[in-house]
Amino acid sequence: MIPYGPEPFTDFSNLKEAQALDAAIAQARQESGANIPLVIGGERIMTEKKTKSINPSRKAEIVGHISKADQAQAEQAMQSAYATFKTWSKVPPESRAGLLFKAAAILRRRKHEFSAWLMIEAGKTRGEADADTAEAIDFMEYYGRQMINMAKRSNDLLVPYPSEVNRLEYIPLGVGIVIPPWNFPLAIMVGMTTASIVAGNTVVLKPASTTPVIAYKFFEILEDAGMPAGVVNYLPGSGAEIGDFLVTHKLTRYIAFTGSRDVGLRIHELSAKVSDGQMWLKRYIGEMGGKDSIIVDKDADLEAAAQGIVASAFGFSGQKCSACSRAIIHKDVYDQVLTRAVELTNQLKIGDVTDHSNFTGPVVDEFAYNKILEFIEIGKGEGRLMTGGNAPMADLGYYIEPTIFADVDPQARIMQEEIFGPVLAFTKANEFGHALEIANNTEYGLTGSVYTRNRMHIERAREEFHVGNLYFNRKCTGAIVGVHPFGGFNMSGTDSKAGGPDYLLQFTQLKLSSEKL
Ligand code: NAP
Ligand code: MG
Repeated sequence: MIPYGPEPFTDFSNLKEAQALDAAIAQARQESGANIPLVIGGERIMTEKKTKSINPSRKAEIVGHISKADQAQAEQAMQSAYATFKTWSKVPPESRAGLLFKAAAILRRRKHEFSAWLMIEAGKTRGEADADTAEAIDFMEYYGRQMINMAKRSNDLLVPYPSEVNRLEYIPLGVGIVIPPWNFPLAIMVGMTTASIVAGNTVVLKPASTTPVIAYKFFEILEDAGMPAGVVNYLPGSGAEIGDFLVTHKLTRYIAFTGSRDVGLRIHELSAKVSDGQMWLKRYIGEMGGKDSIIVDKDADLEAAAQGIVASAFGFSGQKCSACSRAIIHKDVYDQVLTRAVELTNQLKIGDVTDHSNFTGPVVDEFAYNKILEFIEIGKGEGRLMTGGNAPMADLGYYIEPTIFADVDPQARIMQEEIFGPVLAFTKANEFGHALEIANNTEYGLTGSVYTRNRMHIERAREEFHVGNLYFNRKCTGAIVGVHPFGGFNMSGTDSKAGGPDYLLQFTQLKLSSEKL
């Protein structure tokens, strides 16, 4: 098989690349505001009821008018996926993988176009958008190869037995409901969708309501790559209106979800209940929220630590499940790291993401905006506001300044609850063990990072810091497919490890057949 490495990030200091991206932005702007249909069994359906997707950098700009499925259409999508499963599940793994490789090739050719849509629909800067697109390509290249390897290796897993031919096969599950979040609206949506279909399942894809256009654009790539009708059904609609219906449907075999803790728990609970006529136990693959810490030890490289904290906290306005929202600093170096982090934060420019001098853009929508501003008010009662706290250019878009609070109690709300915005809380630790204790004191367990030069402390943290993705002397965001398999513990989800060697196991079941000769 052809080996591959992670898709390189675009070097925008190369003028040709920068201009190509800007041209793609202009083009996307021109195409903005189109009507987007549902696609069920390959058929396009325009509904009367529509939702708007808007550009959070300029909230007057409409990115698309999206058809909105009701329960009757959700039922049609289920029937389409169920019927298509009978044929798609028989397509050999190599051919299914071929679809992913072709789609990856198309996306690679149209990289800037997709990054441009990510910029105007989700408010990502070009660097963040480019990384999202690269990750989507990586997921397809990785899962395609994974599926081929799994199909080959299955028979080698068995111990030979005299006068018998024994066979072990990874077979698909059935109809999967794929429910992605808006914050990696391309990569995570692509990852869960293509893992599903490469394993032989069929999908009802309900995109996040804030970022349905980018999902539709990708759906079109799957069609261009030769995906048969009905393998993926594109079904935008409100999670509240059709979510429960899809999750509790008797034909639903599994749910692949990434999103918040509360919605994840609801889906987990609903999916455990057996509906009338349901023939199986549903599987729940759920990646949920985070409340991620960076620990700085007393003998760490303090400059690197401050840089890492600021990048992890404020990249994409803190709207990453892996974002650092808690800085836990050894008391001996607390003032130094805090002062430097505030200094670095004060240099960050925010504004429209199409102005590339801006470090970060807006938060994604009005709901997020209001929730984050509420948390900033709570923070004012829980800590010392060091920088930020304001919402500038409110007429233009959903901008919130990168905000730092100091001297926050580890049990305070802004230390415990996921804010999902540019809000960072500092707290002081007496010694390294105390820092680890604070780091583990939330109900989440997604990412974490430790800056230290002390080898014993690295080993101690490796054992005690209870997170799915632990980093040393680097930022806690920016996992790469196949390099840093991603997923968290506790209320951060089922630790499905997206982009990891066992991810596809969750989308398959193993069948043994044994023939006596
Ligand atoms: P969210 O509000 O939970 O929404 C996620 C998805 O669930 C959306 O498509 C949403 O649809 C849908 N949904 C809402 N209610 C539903 C219901 N009752 N039944 C079925 N689906 C329903 O999360 P978000 O705001 O999009 O994303 C941010 C969250 O995702 C954060 O908590 C972040 O930590 C987490 N996240 C986790 C990871 C990870 O790998 N662990 C990665 C990225 C993000 P609508 O848009 O229509 O409401
Ligand atoms: Mg939007």
